[in-house]
Amino acid sequence: MRDVIIIGGGPAGSTLARLIGKELNVLLIDKKNRDESKTTFKKPCGGLIAPDAQRALARFQLQIPTEVLANPQIFAVKTIDLQSKLITHYQRFYLNVNRHRFDSWMLSLVVDVDIIEDARVTSIVKTDMGFQVTYTKDGVEWVEQTLTIVGADGADSIVRKTFFNRKIRQYMAIQQFYSASAIKPLYASLFDHTLTDSYGWGLVKDDEFVFGAAMPLLNSRKNFELLKDRSALFDFYLKDPRITEACLVNSPQSINEIECGTESIFLIGEAAGFISPSSLEGISYAMDSALALAQAMKKKNVIRNYKFKCRKIKVKILLKQIKSIVLYTPFLRRLVMISKIDSIELVE
Ligand SMILES: Cc1cc2nc3c(=O)[nH]c(=O)nc-3n(C[C@H](O)[C@H](O)[C@H](O)COP(=O)(O)OP(=O)(O)OC[C@H]3O[C@@H](n4cnc5c(N)ncnc54)[C@H](O)[C@@H]3O)c2cc1C
Repeated sequence: MRDVIIIGGGPAGSTLARLIGKELNVLLIDKKNRDESKTTFKKPCGGLIAPDAQRALARFQLQIPTEVLANPQIFAVKTIDLQSKLITHYQRFYLNVNRHRFDSWMLSLVVDVDIIEDARVTSIVKTDMGFQVTYTKDGVEWVEQTLTIVGADGADSIVRKTFFNRKIRQYMAIQQFYSASAIKPLYASLFDHTLTDSYGWGLVKDDEFVFGAAMPLLNSRKNFELLKDRSALFDFYLKDPRITEACLVNSPQSINEIECGTESIFLIGEAAGFISPSSLEGISYAMDSALALAQAMKKKNVIRNYKFKCRKIKVKILLKQIKSIVLYTPFLRRLVMISKIDSIELVE
């Protein structure tokens, strides 16, 4: 019998495992494989480490190894309103990383915890003693027992779907990879309210150009293709993608959509709904919520303490929701872009 089974080894799961592994008997199950050459699941992501995530890493005294970084590093974002054709540039302070290597590096910091990779949890059943977790690995089914479950399994969380019915707004995030040679290195964010009330992005990562967008679930593929067509006017050469990847991404419309869990079932990271609804930045929220749960687990009433420790994260999401209103209301966004407040002028 385990004390804790963590489902998911992204930034949330690996942070929690690293923090509680010494004191508790922990098993972490993840469907990824750290071996990059394997064709198993790799998290679709822009791979931008925002200042808040850098701050979380700094608090843990962690330094990202250079092999995790991608080329080039980014200092500005080109913001394009596809309908009005307005373009404004803003300074940005992101680290551009290879997301799979970032996750693998974070998982490599976990000691004193049993990790099963390349394994998919298929069911979780409440028992008299705790929970029975079934997972498949190499086509074989395995069962483990635990007192406590942690869902760190992202936007499509099996833990959230099994035990909670709190709804959360979701988009289909689609990303395609192109040869970077045809494109000037840039980081762009694209807005077209007729196709999505979220946004699209483009950036160079090593020798590839990544074009992605968060699309409303209905007709997501068709509207993504339309977004690509409209982006062509702005020098995006989007022909013959090498890879297309897609996954759900959460974007809480209100903090009532956040679910932290109950006495013995906890949700952290995006599974809980901890992600910025304005930028879809989620790595800092994953680490911060994992830290909140690790600290709460040292106390008696874990869920009460965890919820209490999450209040700052919820306030941050509330503020991002207010920012979303400005960013995703075409009139307000254009007003900000025209005002050039906080923007930079490019020198050719
Ligand atoms: C296209 C896209 C671009 C993004 N770009 C950025 C960005 O640039 N910067 C940023 O900060 N955030 C970005 N985000 C958000 C960010 O990726 C997530 O919010 C963050 O990864 C959440 O971390 P997590 O650990 O909670 O979940 P995840 O990183 O999603 O990790 C969940 C883990 O659970 C595992 N898992 C899921 N189900 C199962 C199962 N049944 N069995 C076993 N394992 C399972 C998966 O393998 C995965 O490793 C982006 C999201 C998307 C979709």
